[in-house]
Amino acid sequence: MDTERSFTLLILCSPSGAGKTTLAHAVQKLEPKLDFSVSHTTRAPRSGEVDGRDYYFNSKTDMLARIERGEFAEWAWVHGNLYGTSHQEIRRCRAQGASGVIFDIDVQGARQLRALYPSEALSVFVLPPSAAILRARLEGRGSEDEASLKRRLGVAAAELGHYQSFDYVLVNDQVDEAAATLHALVVAGRHQQSRMRMRAEALLDELRTLQQDD
Ligand code: ADP
Ligand code: 5GP
Repeated sequence: MDTERSFTLLILCSPSGAGKTTLAHAVQKLEPKLDFSVSHTTRAPRSGEVDGRDYYFNSKTDMLARIERGEFAEWAWVHGNLYGTSHQEIRRCRAQGASGVIFDIDVQGARQLRALYPSEALSVFVLPPSAAILRARLEGRGSEDEASLKRRLGVAAAELGHYQSFDYVLVNDQVDEAAATLHALVVAGRHQQSRMRMRAEALLDELRTLQQDD
């Protein structure tokens, strides 16, 4: 199948702590040719995070200048910081022959990417099994101080309200099970009629030529 046509932009959204990063890594194990989009952010690195691998960590001045120059396919203010995906990052994944690219972004970014890539985007909203588990996962990650934890839980309800604009909704209970379902959605997405049209039309042309030759 033509790689250009079968390229998937897998957009994962959820309230912070529901498990997007975990699921992204798990689905990459199932399909290593799915690349991961590294975002730019003005947020400070967490311990263990590496510049260029987890995020491109930028100053606010630098990030605003990049926005001004039109470098981002999408960008948004999230939890008081700027986050964005560069056009260059998406080009990089295509150029490297990836089967698709995974985005761990917020609902504002998802809306922008869907508008930019209506036929290639596949958007999945990830739900935690319960509110208590969401809180426990955020606490367990140990990445937030009390104020940040409260802020993230505070916006969770508003974020959840956007699930209707997504193609699919996935409950992340057992990681392996959720990752397998997510991968099945990616595979199914490649067979959507709109994405198979060129292939079907090419076959029709071949058949017509065959009939003319007979
Ligand atoms: P997000 O990227 O959505 O903010 P993470 O992937 O960082 O969320 O997950 C938040 C925390 O929950 C992490 O400590 C992660 O290990 C844990 N976690 C994620 N998914 C599961 C799951 N299915 N079961 C148990 N713990 C999980
Ligand atoms: P965190 O600070 O926990 O890594 O991410 C906080 C939120 O920012 C998450 O909802 C995450 O999905 C979102 N985010 C990360 N990168 C981007 C991005 O490039 N664009 C947008 N719009 N949101 C992002």
